[in-house]
Amino acid sequence: MRVAIAGAGLAGLSCAKYLTDAGHTPIVLESRDVLGGLVAAWKDSDGDWYETGLHAFFGAYPNMLQLLKELGIEDRLQWKEHTLIFNQPDKPGTLSRFDVPDIPSPFNVIASILRNKDMLTWEQKIRFAVGLLPAVVRGQQYVEDMDKYSFLEWLKRQGVDERVTSDVFIAACKALTFINPDEVSATILLTALNRFLQERYGSKIAFLDGSPTERLCSPIVDYITERGGEVRLNAPLKEILLNANGTVKAYLIRGLNGAEDEVFTADAYVSAMSVDPLKVMLPKSWKQMEFFQKLEGLEGVPVINLHLWFDRKLTEIDHLLFSRSPLLSVYADMSNTCREYANPNRSMLELVLAPAKDWIAKSDEEIVAATIAELEKLFPDHFGGDNPATLLKSHVVKTPRSVYKATPGRQQYRPAQVTPIANFYLAGSYTMQRYLGSMEGAVLSGKLTAQAISEALPVANSSNLQTLTRPPATNAATA
Ligand SMILES: Cc1cc2nc3c(=O)[nH]c(=O)nc-3n(C[C@H](O)[C@H](O)[C@H](O)COP(=O)(O)OP(=O)(O)OC[C@H]3O[C@@H](n4cnc5c(N)ncnc54)[C@H](O)[C@@H]3O)c2cc1C
Repeated sequence: MRVAIAGAGLAGLSCAKYLTDAGHTPIVLESRDVLGGLVAAWKDSDGDWYETGLHAFFGAYPNMLQLLKELGIEDRLQWKEHTLIFNQPDKPGTLSRFDVPDIPSPFNVIASILRNKDMLTWEQKIRFAVGLLPAVVRGQQYVEDMDKYSFLEWLKRQGVDERVTSDVFIAACKALTFINPDEVSATILLTALNRFLQERYGSKIAFLDGSPTERLCSPIVDYITERGGEVRLNAPLKEILLNANGTVKAYLIRGLNGAEDEVFTADAYVSAMSVDPLKVMLPKSWKQMEFFQKLEGLEGVPVINLHLWFDRKLTEIDHLLFSRSPLLSVYADMSNTCREYANPNRSMLELVLAPAKDWIAKSDEEIVAATIAELEKLFPDHFGGDNPATLLKSHVVKTPRSVYKATPGRQQYRPAQVTPIANFYLAGSYTMQRYLGSMEGAVLSGKLTAQAISEALPVANSSNLQTLTRPPATNAATA
């Protein structure tokens, strides 16, 4: 069966990959000239890569890890030491670590918290552990029920000290959702904590060994095209054309550079666009349906990703760092963490600026200047004194609407992959799946969509259908 998929982000590509396995012929239509959506990357005129986002992979990403294995590229993940590293703003230039010992979960994570002496007192640790008990004992239903509270409200209700918020969770909320604990739904943090507490290698972090476009998306495209599918760039969906009964008749693809628009027909249609363009694209008659009306409750959150190249090495740390800066979220020296970006003499810092709502309209110069001022606190040895590090060049990538803004109450608005329209499906990390707005969520959503299509339109003699129904492989234990 021919399946038209609008959007070549990870959700659209994953959907196409699993449709191929099930014997279908997916055709992915991407509006831009680059693969990957929120993981897209570009090469500048010096041959240096810059990306939409600094992307960390976690051990608790079973569907992403299985996908990489199926593509034969799991060795492209560079696994780092099992630890979480935080800057200490009150002691500029120093770090505090949560080292996770290699013992079964949840004892490994508990040990890492108990052994950290910089960030939490014993009383805070005990209060937080007691506060977490309902989530551990009552499981996912409790976690879902907490969507009515912000994470800050939830912490207060559990009697957890304010300092725990400022010390640990502002950094975690900004890293996971690009917003602060007073704005983010408690469900988000509790979901992540649950995964980390339940899986031995759940909180272990890896970086891809190069740009996501080349090292992750291109192999998926090769897999699809070698099996008869197609991925077309510069093919923006302009309109969803309907039959009289309200089902999809065709995708209308906008003709670029004076070319005619193209009417593209298939047996089934998928939107793997993010939620904001989908809302704009919805046909009038669908907008009255409750299923699609709920999409109005979802909206992408702004975020900014910066790349700063310096004339020297600022750090040897080969890991993700939580800056605990009001301006910045996580960052990494990619000259250490990523094989293709490696440089023994010069640092390339990749930093996420969040929350970004007050910065998204500012100039690149203003954003870079404010970031450099923050670096004086993170690397005082290199930015104070007579011989400060020199910025050689920078790239700023602004995304005004990225993943859905995970404020309280959003869970009820996240749609299923199967819609009330018989031949129309959704994929995307905003759709309902347990991994929230992440790469893992995008891959899982695409897989679920492919599974739903295969169930609705079974292909005779499909020897690979099994791969869709097999439970996902476990965790990073083998990585
Ligand atoms: C700064 C940043 C840091 C991040 N860090 C992490 C991280 O560390 N770990 C993690 O797991 N996740 C991270 N994420 C989130 C992760 O990147 C996303 O959740 C995931 O990539 C979303 O994939 P998607 O396919 O659902 O959506 P998208 O990537 O948004 O894909 C949608 C695609 O649809 C295309 N499209 C839009 N309109 C049309 C149209 N009219 N016609 C055709 N195509 C169209 C878009 O161009 C795009 O390619 C980060 C995101 C950002 C921005």
